[in-house]
Order: sequence, then C-alpha cells, then structure tokens
Amino acid sequence: MVQSSKTLCPYCGVGCGLEVLPDTKPSTDAEAWLVRGDRAHPSSQGMVCVKGATIAEALDKNRLLYPMMRDRLDDPFRRVSWDEALTAICDRLRTALDTQGPDAICMYGSGQLQTEDYYTAQKLLKGCLGTNNFDANSRLCMSSAVAAYIQSFGSDGPPCCYADLEETDCAFLIGTNTAECHPIVYNRLRKYHRKKKGKVKLIVVDPRRTQTAQDADLHLQIRPGTDITLLNGIAHILLKKRWIDAVFIDDCTQGFRDYVNVIQHYPPEHVAEVCGISVADLEETARCWGLSKNVLSLWSMGINQSSEGTAKARTLINLHLMTGQIGRAGAGPFSLTGQPNAMGGREAGGLAHILPGYRLVKNPDHRREVEAAWGLPAGSIAPTPGLAAWDMMVALEQQQVGLMWIAATNPAVSVPDVERTKAALRRSPFTVYQDAYYPTETADFAHVLLPAAQWGEKTGVMTNSERTVTLCPAFRDRPGEARADWEIFAEVGRRLGFEQQFAFQTAAAVYREFVSLTAGRVCDMTGLSHDRLAAEGPIQWPCPQHETDTTASDKHDKRLYENLIFPTANGRANFASFHEKGLAERPDPSYPFVLTTGRLYGHWHTQTRTGRIEKTRNLHPEPFLEMHPIDAQHFAMQTGDWVEVRSRRGFVRLRVKVTQYIRKGVLFVPMHWGFLWADQAECNALTNAECCPSSLQPELKACAVQVIPLPADALPATTTEHPRRTAALR
Ligand code: SF4
Repeated sequence: MVQSSKTLCPYCGVGCGLEVLPDTKPSTDAEAWLVRGDRAHPSSQGMVCVKGATIAEALDKNRLLYPMMRDRLDDPFRRVSWDEALTAICDRLRTALDTQGPDAICMYGSGQLQTEDYYTAQKLLKGCLGTNNFDANSRLCMSSAVAAYIQSFGSDGPPCCYADLEETDCAFLIGTNTAECHPIVYNRLRKYHRKKKGKVKLIVVDPRRTQTAQDADLHLQIRPGTDITLLNGIAHILLKKRWIDAVFIDDCTQGFRDYVNVIQHYPPEHVAEVCGISVADLEETARCWGLSKNVLSLWSMGINQSSEGTAKARTLINLHLMTGQIGRAGAGPFSLTGQPNAMGGREAGGLAHILPGYRLVKNPDHRREVEAAWGLPAGSIAPTPGLAAWDMMVALEQQQVGLMWIAATNPAVSVPDVERTKAALRRSPFTVYQDAYYPTETADFAHVLLPAAQWGEKTGVMTNSERTVTLCPAFRDRPGEARADWEIFAEVGRRLGFEQQFAFQTAAAVYREFVSLTAGRVCDMTGLSHDRLAAEGPIQWPCPQHETDTTASDKHDKRLYENLIFPTANGRANFASFHEKGLAERPDPSYPFVLTTGRLYGHWHTQTRTGRIEKTRNLHPEPFLEMHPIDAQHFAMQTGDWVEVRSRRGFVRLRVKVTQYIRKGVLFVPMHWGFLWADQAECNALTNAECCPSSLQPELKACAVQVIPLPADALPATTTEHPRRTAALR
C-alpha cells in the first residue's frame, strides 16, 4: 500500500491542503510524485489550482546541492564543505559585530519559510546578535495590512475565516484580483455567489477589468490611487442615509467624530469625478454596504502596495466599524496574504518591527518577556525596529552593511527600482544566499550559496490567510547536502556561542518553544504541537492550551472579536481619519501613463519554481503590456507590436496586448519575469520604491511611465534563446 502525505501547498496564502504520494509509474527514471487536493483540509476542501497541482515537477530541477563560495562576484563559485562555509559566515559575523556593530548585519527572509525557520532566524538576529535587522519579502506584500490591524484593532490578525465567503450577503473586493491570485478562495466565493444568484452582491473595485471583476455584479473601475476617496465617499453616503450602527459606534469604537469631519468633504459628485466612476454606481455600492445584513471585504496587494497602504486599509476598516460589520459570520475586513506562510512570519516575529506572539520591538514589556523566554540578559533586544526591506537596500548602497544574508527569496527581481537594488547588492562586501534553486537572479550577487531543503524535504508548519495552521511533513530525501533553513540558522547560533538558545534537535522542539511565546496573546497557539497537528490535521488559531480536546467544529471557522472587545487599552476599535494623498508618482506630460503591476494565474512570484514547470510556463510563456485600445490607436499599435516602457528609473521592452479590460491611460505589466526568464522585461526596473510611512511597504502598484514604439531591429531576444535560460530549464 503506497503511503500518502498530507501537507500544504507552498505557493500562495490561500493555503490549500495537498495530498502527495509516490508515482509508481513515472515516465522517467527520476523520482516522481502525484499531487492532488486534500478533501479533508478545511480551507480548500479538496480544491487545488494549477500551481499546487504541478508543484512536484519543480522538486528536482536546478537544485542547489552543495555549499559554494567565491571571494568576488566576478569569480566563479567553488564547491566547499558546510564547515568551510559556516566558518566563513561566522568569521564575517564576528568581524561585522566587532568593527561596525550589530546593525551592520542584515537578514532578508521570506514568506516561503516555515514558522520554525522564521522563529530561529529572528531569534538569532534579534536576540543573540542584537540587531532587529530581520525583515522578509512579506514587507512587500502585506505589511500595510499588519499596520492597519494593529492601529485599528490593537493587534495584528485577520479577524475573518473562509466560511465567511459562504455566509456573506455582500462581498466587497478592493485591490484584489482574487480569481487569479487566490484562486481557491475565489472558487469558494464564486460558487456561493452563483448559487445565491441575485441574493448575494459581488462588488469589485479595480482599475483593470480582471477575471474577478468580470464576475462582479458591480465593477468600480476607479482611477489608480483613488481608493481612499472612494471609501470616504461610501462613508459619506452611509452617514447621510443613517445606514450606520450607532450602538456599535458608541459602545465599541473611538475616533468617530474626527472621521465624520473628514468624510463630510466627500460628496458623491466629487468622489465620482475623482475616481472616474458614476454617481449611480457609487450610491449603489453604499446602498449594498448599508442595507446588506453581512458585508465581507477582501483586499490584497492593490491596497497594501501603496505609499499610503496603511491609510487605505484603515479607511476600509472604518466602513466595517461605522456599520458594525465585524465579529459575526459573513462580515468583517479580510486581508488575503500573498505567500504560504506570511501569516506564520507575522506570528513568529518575522519582520523588523515585531517579536514573536504579535509583540512589538518598541514595547519594553514585550522585549523583556521575549528576552526572559530566550534566557538572554535584559537589554539584549534592541529597542528600535530594524531595517525594513527597502531600507536594507539603501543601507547596502551606503555601505553600512557588513554581512547581508538572504534566504528563500529573490530580491534581484522582486524589490522595486530593481536596477538600483542590483547596484546596491553589488556593493555588499559579503552576501550569503540560502535557497533551494540555482541559478536564480539573486545568486549572481552572492559570495556564499547555501543549499536549502525545501517543501517536502523538511518538517514544519505554515499558517494560511484564515489563521489555519497545517503541518507540512518531510516526505522525500533532501538532495545533495541540503539542510533545513532553521537547522542552518541554529548551527550558526551554536557556533557563535549560543548553545543553550539553539539546543533544538528537531523542528517540533523549535515549534514548542515558539508556541510557548504565544500564551495569552491574540494569536495564542499553546494548544498546538507537531504531534497534535499530525494526529488531528489542520487547526485554526486562537488555540490556547486548554483547547487541546476541542471537537472538530471548534477547530475551524473561528472569528476574532466576536465579543466586540478589541485588544486596545480600552477595548475599543479605532477609527482613522485620512484624506487621500494619491499616487506617490503621478502621471505628467513627460510620463503620461500610470503603470500598474500584478500576478498571473499560473506563475508564482519570480518563477523560481513555476518557470521550471512546463505546464505553468506554457500557460504564460512571455511577459506583455496591457494597453487600452484608444491609447494603442494613438501610437498606431496592435496586439503583438513591441514597445519600450520607460519610467524615471529604468525601462522594459514588451509586446503590447491591446485590451478594453484596462482603463485608458493605465498600463499593466505582470511581475514574474526577471533577467533569467526574459530580456529587458523586469517590471521592477520601472517601479517606485516610495514607501508607506507606517508600514514601510513600497508602492509597487503604481508609477508614471512613457511608451515608445520599437522598430523591428531593436527587439529583445525571445524567452527561450538565452543560454542561461536554457540551462535553467534543464
Ligand atoms: S490557490 Fe494558492 S495555495 Fe491553493 S493550490 Fe493554488 S497556489 Fe496553492
């Protein structure tokens, strides 16, 4: 009897359950695995998208098998032993500490890491090395949602669950192409919407007529950057019509009066004009918010990746507070996380301003609690947040970094203003790059390569967008000399003298220590352990110690704040009062278009996996530029013609796709192509690194660009002609 393993899809934050079993009839001699949806997983109920279904095909392609080193970036790598690599890293860490101080050390991690990896890494940096310079690519993805939850409710933590998708009367989706980016969440919502035809409203706010927008009862195709005006305009109508919950506002919130002073400046005619929509559509949206029994809002990068991302998310939360749409089935603000374990990272202290258990670096009590738990002297954790993702690039640029450590992410493609980013990475005196794959674009900037075990080769947990925790067991041997990320961090900690802090023998022991730090917190997981998750399957938090004997129904579909008491000092949620500032970089006569960026259904991030899988590669073989027909007519261009798109920072060359599904004056480029997969097509060559002052999340979603038609003799190579690319496909 062939044994199957139950695990979690390691791509997006939906967190679908997978069942993996050995393929007994592989087409080649290579080890092969069959992957199907796990029907017992509460979040996905057996559903799976193309990425999850094909994940096993990338397991053995282009793996980094051994540690490698080089002295200079233009030298070739040479194979070294683990001992040699770790000795070099520890020597460099000691030198940086002695000569520059702890803040010369930076680590940039990833929502792909498991919770045990995150926890061990940030313990090493924040507790033992004395710097809070541990940040993750989640900063680029959902840190605005984190900041908004903390400021509005007193704590991070999405309050809703996926069952709300099937219990709402009105789903309000803003800044999220859920159909392509969170496909199984969308499957659940779409099925329900169709089943309840006419009774459940689906409203989508997006400058593009995305697949999600095409299913909507109402699509508000707003101008990019006008979200706050729209949301304040909805609030204006709600107040005028008295479609508010005055009892909830009085009993459970604060700051409403200041908010009223702001929204009075957003009458419907003004809002419709600024947003580029009709007054009737705006009023219909407000009517749905005001008269629906339960309103659920979903958002993701279209709100978060903005220089006012926190203000946008808080302004959306305001609508829930003024209508009392929170704390019950089918209602509430629900941010969808991008990555499979971005949520676990937030829980484990995986950003530069937080500590495990939803604690804050700035809070002295929180620092003391963590120091005591780690057996470290008081004052070991620095009192100020460390460098966030973009600030690390600036610090590299200014040569303030002695050692840069990058794990499970590909910043040479994914960070904004990527030519500046690459120049900054080139200035690093010593970069450690820890990844499962080679080549990647970021490997070009490394002095040391460490082979990491990936999904299926190490045991650990991940938390999805609805707070469901799933154990992901190892089910195959590690290739070459690959090691689990947490094992690498722990070994470095021990070599630096922190034997007691890194005495872990197993991932289960790491997890045990981590959950002990969640006791009494909003994200209490003290009732969880590897053993329990293995025996009982996925469980949603909060799950305190006394809930270890819960029945099946108590393990899922939980909501936060059902008692309408929020974890602020006085138990009240906070209204926020923001006027819109607009795009950080607005179009002007020199750069007349707004460029927006996003994901496609079949690809994941920078294609480190999906570029190596035939089916997903064939789904989206090359990058493109979406342009409205009127704009295309201006340039006398048709679909398939080549253009150069320039911003103030760089350029790309792409084929045009003429489509009515985008607003006139707005262009769209997918974010998946780095220089390994296409020539001159990196959308982040164009993007702007201007960050939200609260969340430090960059405005990846919008920048000003110009378009120049390209003559035939200036065309870049196609996606398969590059020798490195050919090697990467083997
Ligand atoms: S929706 Fe996300 S988690 Fe689910 S199978 Fe697809 S990529 Fe994986």
